[in-house]
Amino acid sequence: MTWLTDEQAIRDILEIGRRMYARGFAAGNDGNISARVGDCEIWTTPSGVSKGFMTEDMLVKLSLDGNVLKGSWKPSSEVKMHLRLYREMPDCGGVVHAHPPVSAAFAAAGVPLDQAYLQESVVLLGEIPVAPYAMPGSEELAESVAPFCGKVNGLLLEHHGAVAWAADPIHAWYRLESIEYNATVAMYSRTMGFHRPLTEEQIDGLLTLRPAWGVTAGGRPKGREE
Ligand SMILES: [Zn+2]
Repeated sequence: MTWLTDEQAIRDILEIGRRMYARGFAAGNDGNISARVGDCEIWTTPSGVSKGFMTEDMLVKLSLDGNVLKGSWKPSSEVKMHLRLYREMPDCGGVVHAHPPVSAAFAAAGVPLDQAYLQESVVLLGEIPVAPYAMPGSEELAESVAPFCGKVNGLLLEHHGAVAWAADPIHAWYRLESIEYNATVAMYSRTMGFHRPLTEEQIDGLLTLRPAWGVTAGGRPKGREE
């Protein structure tokens, strides 16, 4: 694998932080972002800082076992979840976690985003399960996401928020945006009283596109019951 350079990782983390805050995915100091720069090294965001207003000096470089390699700020306590995701998935290059409101509503209800409403969502994102409840920043939070690694592209975290990962941090951010978009479509469908997922046959066809589109995980969202 080739990873981002330190400079690219820092630039992308700062940009994702600005977008996350501007889109209302993270209130106050919520959310955290990381980028892999080596087989055993990541850059990540500090604790107690709004992700919309970060500067380069606030970021922290860590080894995958959690030791600080560079930087003087305290890393987010939720970085344990990021480290676990990188250890479980050697091809993972970026992780983005936030509390986007519609996704958070599904997470609070314990309801997965598992219905096949839209074509591209089936191919690119797939199903988004709910990882079981864990205290913030705990070892249990890291444990709760581990069983899903390599199977899906992101998760809702019960009563907490959402997390997505990808080969680099920008694509992890795009996936987090897709999770919130899908949650919003699911919300509209339900509140308008519509529930009309794709048929199983349509889903079969869409899943054949995944290899050409470079998608290696995502499971199978649920189709229409006829
Ligand atoms: Zn959080």
